[in-house]
Amino acid sequence: MIRYYSTNRNLDPSSGVVPFRGLVTFREALLQGQAPDEGLFMPDVVPRLNLEDVVTLKGRPYSEAALLVTGLFLRDEIEVSALERIVEDSYPFEVPLEHVYGRRYIMRLDRGPTASFKDFAARMMARLMAYFKGPDRRLNVLVATSGDTGSAVGEAFKGVPGIAVCILYPRGEVSGRQKKQLDTIGGNVRAISIEGKFDDCQNLVKEAFADPSLAYLNFTSANSINFGRILPQMVYYVYAWAQLAEDGEEMVVSVPSGNFGNALGCEYARRMGLPVKKLVMPTNENDEFPRFLARGRYEVQSPSRACLSNAMNVGHPSNLARFFDLYGGTVDRKGVVHRRPDLEEMRRNIFSISVSDDETRETIKNVYERHGTILEPHGAVGWKGLETWLEGLEGAEPLSVSLETAHPAKFPDEIIELLGIVPDPPESLRGLDEREGEPVELPADYGAFRDWLMAELE
Ligand SMILES: *Cc1c(COP(=O)(O)O)cnc(C)c1O
Repeated sequence: MIRYYSTNRNLDPSSGVVPFRGLVTFREALLQGQAPDEGLFMPDVVPRLNLEDVVTLKGRPYSEAALLVTGLFLRDEIEVSALERIVEDSYPFEVPLEHVYGRRYIMRLDRGPTASFKDFAARMMARLMAYFKGPDRRLNVLVATSGDTGSAVGEAFKGVPGIAVCILYPRGEVSGRQKKQLDTIGGNVRAISIEGKFDDCQNLVKEAFADPSLAYLNFTSANSINFGRILPQMVYYVYAWAQLAEDGEEMVVSVPSGNFGNALGCEYARRMGLPVKKLVMPTNENDEFPRFLARGRYEVQSPSRACLSNAMNVGHPSNLARFFDLYGGTVDRKGVVHRRPDLEEMRRNIFSISVSDDETRETIKNVYERHGTILEPHGAVGWKGLETWLEGLEGAEPLSVSLETAHPAKFPDEIIELLGIVPDPPESLRGLDEREGEPVELPADYGAFRDWLMAELE
C-alpha cells in the first residue's frame, strides 16, 4: 500500500519545525491536506504504468484514462466500482487536442465549469473527499479567494452530498464577473463577501481552523497543495500520449507554471513510466525558478510581479517543495533551501524560461496569424516556452503538446485588442449575467464570522 510522507521530514529541529517522520494513508493525506509540520504529503512509492494498457486508451473517453492512472495510487483504499463512478461524474466534458502544425499540438483543459484546468483537479478531489469522509460525517470546506480558485472549488463541490462550502472573498477586490461567478453557484456552496482585503479573508479562515470551539464543524481547506489535487493532474498527460503517440515515441510537454502543481502532475507521469522527453516549465516574469535552474541559487521573488497571465503571479511556488524532494533536496515554506536538489538531473528532465508580457502578447498574435489558433495569456506562455526549447533541438521534430490552461473568452479585452476578434465563450461561461444569487455580507471581524458559522453550519 502506498503511504505518504512529509517534505519536511528531514528538517533539522533547530530550524524551529518539529519534523513529521510518520506515514499516512491517501485518505488521511486527503482529509488533512497538509502534514502536521506544514510540509507537503508525497507518496513513498510511485507506481508503474503499463504502456500496453495506456495504448488501449486511444479513442476512449477521458474518464477511462483517469480510472487507469488514479487507480494505480488508490486501488488499496477504494473499490474499482466506486472509483469508476467518481471519474465518470468528475469528467462529463471534452478534452480537445488541437493540431497546430508539424508535430505540435495544444491540449485545451478549459471545458470544465469554470473554464480553467483547475476544474480537473478540484472536481475529482471533491468527489474523493465525499467518498473518504464516510457516509455519516459532514465536512465543511472553508476557502479564502481573491478570484478564480474560489469558483473552481465552489463549482467542484456543488451538489456533492455531505459537504458544505463557504467561500470568502474581499468585497472590493474581485471583478464583477468573478463576483457573479461566486455568488451564483448556490445550493451547498455559499459566497461570503467580506468588508476587507484578501488577507482579512485568509485570516478569518485561519482563525476558524484553529478555533477549538468549532472543531465539531470538521473544517477542511481543499487547497491547492492537497495531494488529492495533484493526483488528477497526472491523468491528462497520459491521455494525450495515448491519443497522439506513434510506436511508443517520446513526447515533449509544455506546462505554463505558477505554483507548479500542474507541472508536478507531468513529473509524476514521467516517473510512472510515461515517455516524456522533456518537461518544459515556462513562467511569466516571476522568474525565480528559471533563475534557479540556470544558476543554482534560489531566491524568492518578493513581492511577486503582476503579469498578464495573472494566475501565475507567484513569487515562491508552493509545490516547489515537492520538486525539490523528488530531486533529493529540501526547501521550506519561506523559500529557505535546506538541502540542494540534484541540479544536473533536474536540468536533464526540465527546461524553464521566463516569458515577458511583451513576448506573451506577441505569441498570441503570431500563433493566431500563422495558424488560426487562439491562445490566452497563460497558454501563450506555454507555447513560447515550447518553441524556445524546440529551437535549440537538432534532428527530427518530436511530438509536442503545449497546455492551454484557461479559455480565451476569460480574457476578452486582451484578445480583442491583439486579434480584433471577440472570442466565443464556452457553454459554461454563457448566461452568467442572468444567473441569480446574493452573497452573505460580513465585516472583517472574527466574532461576527464565528457567530455566523455556528448559526448556519451543521
Ligand atoms: C493556476 C493556473 C496556472 C498555474 O498552474 P500551477 O499549477 O499553479 O502551476 C496556469 N494557468 C491558469 C489559467 C491557472 O488558473
